[in-house]
Amino acid sequence: MNRKGILVVVSGFSGAGKGTLMKELLHRYDNYALSVSATTRNPREGEEHGREYFFLTDGEFEKLIEEDQLIEYARYVNHYYGTPKEYVLEQMEAGKDVILEIEIQGALKVKEKFPDTLLLFVTPPSAEELRRRLINRGTETMEVIEARLKRAGEEAESMDGYDYLLVNDKLEDCVEDMHRLIQAQHLKTSFQKDFVNQMKKELKQR
Ligand code: 5GP
Repeated sequence: MNRKGILVVVSGFSGAGKGTLMKELLHRYDNYALSVSATTRNPREGEEHGREYFFLTDGEFEKLIEEDQLIEYARYVNHYYGTPKEYVLEQMEAGKDVILEIEIQGALKVKEKFPDTLLLFVTPPSAEELRRRLINRGTETMEVIEARLKRAGEEAESMDGYDYLLVNDKLEDCVEDMHRLIQAQHLKTSFQKDFVNQMKKELKQR
């Protein structure tokens, strides 16, 4: 059976440890591709253009919107973030499951456009742990951390829209849970439903 890739959205509070989780998943399995988003925020120390993000000016980002080159985009704490279309579609066509690490508004737009998408929400074990991780990362000012925590509170309201919640307590367990959920989603996709419908039709013809 020709197996096409599916889309997997991973959202979660800023500081939930999504980055580490993705790295480990991609390290262990070779059927995943990670989409690189475009953003207008400044690079953090150690981040590279084309690896963590495509760092763009507002004008460059708005051009992508006008030219319909993004699957989705959203504003997050005063900046644009969006998913370039071309790479994602190419990789799915090649059979890779493509992971989008994006926030909630974008996640819901992706699900609308691609109903087979699996929506995962990653959270640290507690709000206190979230705050601790954000402060320890040391890459943002207290003001930005507070803005991100406020946004996390708002995002918690929409967690219901997700298919599964993953508590990132032990990294090992979380990676394996994620892998299993994605593989299970393949068994639910419309491609599989088409297969079943074809079977039904053929059985009737006998
Ligand atoms: P950060 O600035 O910490 O890298 O990302 C801030 C938020 O933007 C995170 O919740 C991240 O998942 C989200 N994000 C990153 N890329 C995209 C994107 O392409 N689209 C949307 N909607 N959100 C994104």
